[in-house]
Amino acid sequence: MSDVKVYEIEMEVRTPLVLSSYEAIGNVFSTDWKYIPGHVIRGALFSQLMREGKEVPIREEARDPTVFFQPAYPVLDGRETIPAHPMIYKCKVCKKTVINLEKFEECEEHPFCMESKGGSLVFIDENGNLKFFEYEYVDLESLGINRVIKGRELEMLYSFIGISPNTKFKCRVTDVSGKLGELGIKDLGELKIGRGISRGFGLVELKIEEIEESKLVEDRSREIEKIIGKKEDNPLILLVKSPTFNLSGSKFGLDWKLDLSLGGTELKCEEVILTGRTSISGFSLAGGIPKAKLTNLIDIGSLLFFETGGAIQEEELMKEIARKELRGFGPYSQIGLNFLEVHPIAYGGDLQ
Ligand SMILES: [Zn+2]
Repeated sequence: MSDVKVYEIEMEVRTPLVLSSYEAIGNVFSTDWKYIPGHVIRGALFSQLMREGKEVPIREEARDPTVFFQPAYPVLDGRETIPAHPMIYKCKVCKKTVINLEKFEECEEHPFCMESKGGSLVFIDENGNLKFFEYEYVDLESLGINRVIKGRELEMLYSFIGISPNTKFKCRVTDVSGKLGELGIKDLGELKIGRGISRGFGLVELKIEEIEESKLVEDRSREIEKIIGKKEDNPLILLVKSPTFNLSGSKFGLDWKLDLSLGGTELKCEEVILTGRTSISGFSLAGGIPKAKLTNLIDIGSLLFFETGGAIQEEELMKEIARKELRGFGPYSQIGLNFLEVHPIAYGGDLQ
């Protein structure tokens, strides 16, 4: 059996990118997502391949998913951003940042000025400091041109707020069946993504690298070990990177639940710190199926704490976590749900 392939996809925005959970309101396009959701990347990628005449096995993928889409977060000088959790505080006056999972810490100079930054985007700079990432937006009003009468019409006036050209994103797509390889994903040079693509928005340039999953898992499991530490009572803390299912199934029979077993044992969740709840809609698992809406999902930046009873120290389990970071921790990771990550900011400690 050939090795599972992971495609590391870097996207550089060429025309304003409109990332919105809703369709345009009238002629207004706005941006409310802080990342590119997996289902948006999946839709854009499959559509592009189909436009090029490839036979994308959409129905097969809906029945038996083999391609998993991480959300894409912005990168700054090669540094990946991540959603901040609710225990990351910033002083509104002097901008001092505090991460403390144990107690609420005030800014000494400015009492009552700490504000939780949960859900904002952060990255760790070259000196090991936590920095906040802000998008640059472009905000324009444009006149559409009516191609038939070659004139301008008032109802074609539209306005939009989009993410500025030159912004870079990165995500990984894991392909356990080799389908993307056969479809020639590596030859794709650009993609149209987000809202308003028929008006020229959302053109991104792609750089795609193919990596063996086993190699990534090997390297990543060592990083995870370093982050979690060797202490026996260290909990496993997962940072939510894409809308995530609840921890328990529904008593109404819905089996939408995170898969948090490691080494065949179900981990016990001790605590959840939420940034909030969210919903997603606008994807369809196969052509012809009405678009679904999922509500009450755990939002990005939330933290989940698990008791591991020391079991986590085993190398095989570290690898299992690394693999789940790539393939998702639950069902529906083919459309970008249930991606979580072990990250130093969730451990509140040394960011170096
Ligand atoms: Zn202050």
